[in-house]
Amino acid sequence: MTKKNGLSPRSIAAQAGRRPDEENGAVVPPVHVSATFQRDANYELPAGFLYGRCGNPTVAAAEEAIARLEGAHAARLFGTGMAAIAALFETVPCGGHVVLPQVMYFANHPLIAGLAESRGFEISVIAPADPDAGKASVVPGKTDILWIETPANPTWDIVDIAQAAEIAHSAGAILGVDGTAAPPCTTRALDFGADIVFHSATKYLNGHSDLTGGVLAFREGNDRFEAVETLRTRFGSIMAPFEAWLLMRGMRTLFIRYEKASENALAFAQTFEGHRRVEEVLYPGLPSHKGHQIAVKQMTGGFGGMLSLIVKGSGEEARKVASSVQLMIPATSLGGVESLIEHRKTIEGDDSPIPDNLLRISIGIEHVDDLIADMRGALAQIG
Ligand SMILES: *Cc1c(COP(=O)(O)O)cnc(C)c1O
Repeated sequence: MTKKNGLSPRSIAAQAGRRPDEENGAVVPPVHVSATFQRDANYELPAGFLYGRCGNPTVAAAEEAIARLEGAHAARLFGTGMAAIAALFETVPCGGHVVLPQVMYFANHPLIAGLAESRGFEISVIAPADPDAGKASVVPGKTDILWIETPANPTWDIVDIAQAAEIAHSAGAILGVDGTAAPPCTTRALDFGADIVFHSATKYLNGHSDLTGGVLAFREGNDRFEAVETLRTRFGSIMAPFEAWLLMRGMRTLFIRYEKASENALAFAQTFEGHRRVEEVLYPGLPSHKGHQIAVKQMTGGFGGMLSLIVKGSGEEARKVASSVQLMIPATSLGGVESLIEHRKTIEGDDSPIPDNLLRISIGIEHVDDLIADMRGALAQIG
């Protein structure tokens, strides 16, 4: 992965937002907290910044770093991931149609269903990673967005992005990819033909569980891009400057964090595959995972730290495992340096198709032996 200008994405990430200060030589960029920007003698805006709700230099620096990492025309940051997804689906025209995977970040379903109802567009929900279902679901001239998530929460199904892009484009639709679990250090969705890639920046991009944010990176600076940017200004859903600064700090270690988490997760997955209290380990890095072959092609910088354990036992026993860990933290979210575990059904509710005995684990960068010992101890609690 080398960019046209010769710098590898690894180097771009390591110096995310770097702009040596001409006044004082500071290596680390400041946080621009100003809510408003002064006009010059010609009554012009010297750097194009008008007001904090429209744009901010610190936010713009983080967006530029993400756009470079993704090979995008531009990226736009929002205060949360859901605000970014909401802005995108607000652009679906009345009478239009979108295709969503059944397995995806659970909160997307009510968000997009609500928008579909109020704005008057239709939704088809399909099995993820099923190209035939994808082909059958798009309607030429009507489908606006084919949305995929890869790896998909919380089964970590892998969707072939290039194939999905072909299906979307054959119907005149765009392909939007939720790549939260596969940041650009491992997958550059736009290179595989996606039109827009989304990340919850709360997760791997930041990596320290100390901010919420979302980003949309666009292949082209087209009408859709303009529409999303306008909506962000109208809603006031832009990321705040301090969060953008923290995000840049986090992104500088994206590659090494993701590599370490991937290495840990693979060893962890291999250890518990075949454990007598584990029915199945869902991890795209395992050859037994049904998406493994596509993951090898598509996740070139590691399979990530996200995996799920299907406990051999009841939902009650799975919850007991999740509450018996000593090192892993029983909390939601993912992609941080600290390992988190959660009984996913508790979060998603009774309507969710997620098995009651599924534990979602976000493997961090601790020593893997400690993580393995922690899980062994927790599984021993159910005998
Ligand atoms: C967390 C998450 C989101 C939502 O992002 P927020 O920052 O929590 O609003 C969307 N998609 C995926 C895959 C996520 O993990």
